[in-house]
Amino acid sequence: MRVNWRQIHAARNSYAVLSAACETEGIVIYPVDLPANDVTCYSLNSINEPNYRDEIAHADCITIVGGPHATACYRSIAQYADYVVVGEGEHTLPRLLNNLESGGDGHIPGVATREYYEPARTTVRLDAYPAFSVTKGYIEISRGCPYSCGYCQTPQIFGHCMRHRSIDAIVTAAGRHEQARFVTPNAFAYGSDGIHPRFNKVCNLLKRIRAVGCQQVYFGTFPSEVRPEFVCHESLALVTDYCTNTKLHFGAQSGSNAVLAQLHRGHMVEMVIDAVTLCHDTGITPIVDFIVGFPFETDEDQEKTAELIAWVAQYGLVHAHRFMSLPGTPLAGSRARSLLPETEKLCGKLALAGKLTGSWNEPEIRFMRSPSTDKI
Ligand code: SF4
Repeated sequence: MRVNWRQIHAARNSYAVLSAACETEGIVIYPVDLPANDVTCYSLNSINEPNYRDEIAHADCITIVGGPHATACYRSIAQYADYVVVGEGEHTLPRLLNNLESGGDGHIPGVATREYYEPARTTVRLDAYPAFSVTKGYIEISRGCPYSCGYCQTPQIFGHCMRHRSIDAIVTAAGRHEQARFVTPNAFAYGSDGIHPRFNKVCNLLKRIRAVGCQQVYFGTFPSEVRPEFVCHESLALVTDYCTNTKLHFGAQSGSNAVLAQLHRGHMVEMVIDAVTLCHDTGITPIVDFIVGFPFETDEDQEKTAELIAWVAQYGLVHAHRFMSLPGTPLAGSRARSLLPETEKLCGKLALAGKLTGSWNEPEIRFMRSPSTDKI
């Protein structure tokens, strides 16, 4: 049975991870540009899913769809795909492929079809699978998040309990290449419960990565951003002592404490200001994420956000996006509110000055490559 992977730019890291997981079961997955015999796998997010719906529905092969959108909307995806992998794929996808190879009906936990669904009974232990194999990917060091930000799919897919790849396993992956980048909801939370930092664990990790000969270590930049309240003298020293990046990426999301509370962000505006100031004092450029147009944002809330954006831009860079409701999140189904003319004008002015990237009017860009941050 030949198994293919439909190449989609946004899913390139999923291919690195899942092809490595399948390889441990002796299954090779070939990248393709169109579905082909015998099986073609897809990983879709909420933006690109409509682009592949017809292709999957009319594919002349078995189709398997996973990814964040498929996990949140498995019933609707199962209407046009043969199998939907719901949740984490490392354990479920190889099992499904083996089941199909041996003539099974694919009805296994973690898989949905038109007539069947049973939730996965397992949670993936990161050390049980390689970070990547032939195709290099980012090294996922932690998975799961104890927070519940209203717009975010991460805890819905991976749960609220933070799991970590061991230092030995991370070092093994990092030592294979000159440059290492990481995936985690919060790089500074490595080794912790995600709420109470354990910087000694982060320190041990970074020391070991440097010792294994990895020349360029990018930690706390896309796609391993940090949370603002984890930014302190101790954590910044880890970046300056052991890492290549001179920038640090974290989320503010709003300049209004009322909005942050409604989002359940778990931090306040004052912590963002402290983090930006500390970065600046340490010689690190902060890159700060904002989301504009939350459904419940008042004019006054948005003005506070614009004020904070303007302030951050004096010391670093802003990454701004229009709110977009994602399926499976607490804010699913809600609509973005309009932007004030002053907010649009400010974002445009800062973008022209090279201080702001992202799209405050086109939410789709949020899911695409960010040229400025990719090179950090
Ligand atoms: S936005 Fe970050 S901190 Fe909030 S729930 Fe998502 S991963 Fe966790």
